[in-house]
Amino acid sequence: MSDDKRASVQKEKEMAKYTVNYSCGHSEVIQLYGKCSEREKRISWLEQRICPQCFKKEKEEEKRIANEQAAKEAKEKGLPNLIGSIKQIAWAETIRKNALSSSSNQVLENYIPKDEKEKVLYEKAKELRKYLETEISSKWWIDNRNTVDCYIRNSLNNIIY
Ligand SMILES: [Zn+2]
Repeated sequence: MSDDKRASVQKEKEMAKYTVNYSCGHSEVIQLYGKCSEREKRISWLEQRICPQCFKKEKEEEKRIANEQAAKEAKEKGLPNLIGSIKQIAWAETIRKNALSSSSNQVLENYIPKDEKEKVLYEKAKELRKYLETEISSKWWIDNRNTVDCYIRNSLNNIIY
């Protein structure tokens, strides 16, 4: 028997199919490897959870609610309407909300510059905040989603942190 063949036979012996009954009522057949006791542990852990499809749905619903909430808050704060597809706008609302409500934003609002040098930097940070408030392109928010929540903090870096 070749090594490849031997390996695949060995793998087949170690692998088995199991039906998992998730807590949401759905079930799924999965393949498990390794020690039998570990497999059983894995299955009872899985069975306390909802299935991957329901989990995905739940996450999507959470996201939808968060986006809706962000849109509502943006309206209350008088922020401009975002432009883009419905999907883009929904997502960008949450990104914008997080960027404009980080703790650095509170600092920015309450800080009093100590000298001229700080004042210049502080005004720059304020300008950046104003720029963010007027940015209406959903695409821009989505493209910058991984860094934009640090913009205000970074702009305050030389003054406070
Ligand atoms: Zn399910």
